[in-house]
Amino acid sequence: MATYDFIIVGMGTAGSATCMTLARRGFKVLGIDRYRPPHEMGSHHGASRSVRRAYLEGTSYVPMALRSWELWRRLEKDSGQKLLVKTGNLTIGPPESPAVLGFMASAQSYAIAHESLTAAEVRKRWPQLDPPDTFVAGLEKEAGIVFPELSIATFLTEAEKAGADLVVDQQVERWTESHGSVTVHAARDTYEAGRLLISAGAWTNGLLGLPDRQLMPKRVVVHWLEVPNNSRLRLGCFPVNFWQVPPEKSPAAPQTFREFYALPVLESSPRMKVAFHNGLVDCDPTTLTREVLSHELETIKGVIAEFLPGLKGYSITSDVCLYTLTPDGHFYLGKRSGSDHVFGVALAGHGFKFAPVIGEILADLLADISPAVDIELFSPNRFEPKK
Ligand SMILES: Cc1cc2nc3c(=O)[nH]c(=O)nc-3n(C[C@H](O)[C@H](O)[C@H](O)COP(=O)(O)OP(=O)(O)OC[C@H]3O[C@@H](n4cnc5c(N)ncnc54)[C@H](O)[C@@H]3O)c2cc1C
Repeated sequence: MATYDFIIVGMGTAGSATCMTLARRGFKVLGIDRYRPPHEMGSHHGASRSVRRAYLEGTSYVPMALRSWELWRRLEKDSGQKLLVKTGNLTIGPPESPAVLGFMASAQSYAIAHESLTAAEVRKRWPQLDPPDTFVAGLEKEAGIVFPELSIATFLTEAEKAGADLVVDQQVERWTESHGSVTVHAARDTYEAGRLLISAGAWTNGLLGLPDRQLMPKRVVVHWLEVPNNSRLRLGCFPVNFWQVPPEKSPAAPQTFREFYALPVLESSPRMKVAFHNGLVDCDPTTLTREVLSHELETIKGVIAEFLPGLKGYSITSDVCLYTLTPDGHFYLGKRSGSDHVFGVALAGHGFKFAPVIGEILADLLADISPAVDIELFSPNRFEPKK
């Protein structure tokens, strides 16, 4: 049986970055995936992911976001690949919305260059966007997007260059832990290591053996607008725009802010991506339907007509991606409670931008090093029953 310092199950976003980091540190590492990453079955496909540092989800993420940006740039240098492009990022909503307040708190606490805009200023600069007069926006000019498929391919190439073994198209069925080691049973082979990381995205809850619904797979529908070749909507000219808007007026509608976003048009994939970020449905990642339902199409058309009227009328195609949410919306990062040698990670639907720093943090944890950034917020222990 082949023996390693570390085995990583799931070579997507978190797994490929961790595999690269550990291999570069000289460890003997095996990465296994049920598919052949990058692929379209998990959480990392779809051509673009936003990267920002004025983090509306909480100021605790900002040091990680700053470090991640630095590591993205370093990876570009090492690999010769262009992974990150600046395009600006707008957070739009009522002044009292958690998104706008969170953006401002992070930008101000960490002196991140930003502009505060009125709705009229947004409409003037980007006529495709139509926030009502009661909305405001925060603009982080230096924010951008990364290319997820190319990023994962780059992590994996660099991991192999540094000596990691990669096994693809082989599903891990289960693992057992005993006397200082872990045995991993995959479909065709069995492997042993000192420590194990489960970074299986939407499949992590089951593989880690966590209580039902601790890490929740959600079906995310992504819509693509066939916009004409219009330079004003292109990457570099048009900002990522994230909206948090009041609930629909209908009494049957959920009474929470609706969250959706649009990403600029890329050269490699000349379509505009628009999707909802909340109100998502539970799913089983293996059996979920990838067909998009007519009411899902109607709902996105509704917010486009109301808030992005310059994009109305273009034909739409849609596909399906996956989030792995936690009960509080923050990451799950660390040792599985009750295990000595098994670690897990879940990125709660907003983790791609952090991939390099997540790789660094997990490599530290697996090697018994204290990470340089504070990760208390992400501790798996927070979901344990209080004694
Ligand atoms: C539509 C959409 C838009 C997003 N936009 C953004 C954004 O703009 N910015 C941002 O920062 N984040 C964004 N995210 C979130 C981000 O993409 C995810 O948080 C991140 O990709 C999750 O990474 P992961 O490693 O957990 O999962 P994945 O990248 O899916 O990797 C999990 C891997 O585990 C493998 N696996 C599963 N089970 C097994 C098994 N039994 N054996 C072996 N291998 C297994 C899978 O094949 C897969 O390759 C978005 C997500 C979606 C879906």
